[in-house]
Amino acid sequence: TIVITGATGHLGRQVVEQLLARGVDPSTVVAGGRNEEALAALASHGVRTARIDYSDPSTLDDAFAGAEKVLLISGSEVGKRSVQHKAVIDAARRVDASLVYTSAPKASTSALVLAPEHKATEGLLEGSGLTYTVLRNNWYTENYDDTIRQAASTGSILTSAGRGRVASATRRDYAEAAAVVLLSDDYAGEILELGGDEPWSVDELASVVADVQGNDVTVEQVSTDQHVAALQGFGLDEGTAGFVAAIDANIADGLLAESDGTLSRIIGRPTTPLRQYVAELLG
Ligand code: NDP
Repeated sequence: TIVITGATGHLGRQVVEQLLARGVDPSTVVAGGRNEEALAALASHGVRTARIDYSDPSTLDDAFAGAEKVLLISGSEVGKRSVQHKAVIDAARRVDASLVYTSAPKASTSALVLAPEHKATEGLLEGSGLTYTVLRNNWYTENYDDTIRQAASTGSILTSAGRGRVASATRRDYAEAAAVVLLSDDYAGEILELGGDEPWSVDELASVVADVQGNDVTVEQVSTDQHVAALQGFGLDEGTAGFVAAIDANIADGLLAESDGTLSRIIGRPTTPLRQYVAELLG
């Protein structure tokens, strides 16, 4: 049995679909999460579902009974995740399941604002005695949906990411890799840096949108402080504005720029090109 946590989310649902697309017997898949509507939608694919709350170990024990493999999709409650992920790892140990974890680029050494909880989780895995694989997923191209739509409609992009590149790939690309890894024993013990084949800068994103949309798109480069102020002007609270600008600063520093082709090798095809993604989104 393969248990997918966070199966009610955008990535997890696609991992379940990718497992089924590879001929996995749905009765051997347990899709877990808290959102009951999303669990019901997953059940309609024939898979088993389980209520999983990372903060409630008894739900983990129920869901993991008989599990050989568990995909731990990192939680979305930033700040609580180290403790939540520890509960998942502890529950996997109780049934001796092997574990696959979705992490972040170079999590153990990166200055990325989101790295600390991933670093802590990877550290727990290292000490757990479990067989595990780490999927250090770079950014989702989907993170830029609003930016792309706004660039198409207003003709401008505001950024403090400078010339930094992002090795993004689509959730579909990462979901396929997760399915391949879950269905193989070849990746045991590996830490895989996964990202898109062609890292892009905001200038390149702007020219792709301009090309696809047939309009002009200008890039307004601002400082981190100016970016925070502008985002607050658009109605974001201080914390969220600071977080968005901090990510751009990380990008400017090149923390998301690297890609070594591991993702495309695992999925056996190139990652989804930015141009194709933008054309589909705007089309
Ligand atoms: P979603 O927000 O769509 O899904 C998050 C999933 O995590 C949901 O299934 C949610 O379950 C589950 N979850 C969150 N907290 C808990 C909890 N306490 N107990 C049980 N389940 C929990 O995110 P995505 O699917 O798009 O991305 C997956 C993960 O990747 C994110 O959670 C985040 O860690 C990370 N991420 C990565 C990004 C990147 O660019 N690489 C961007 C954004 C996030 P439910 O809804 O049922 O409560």
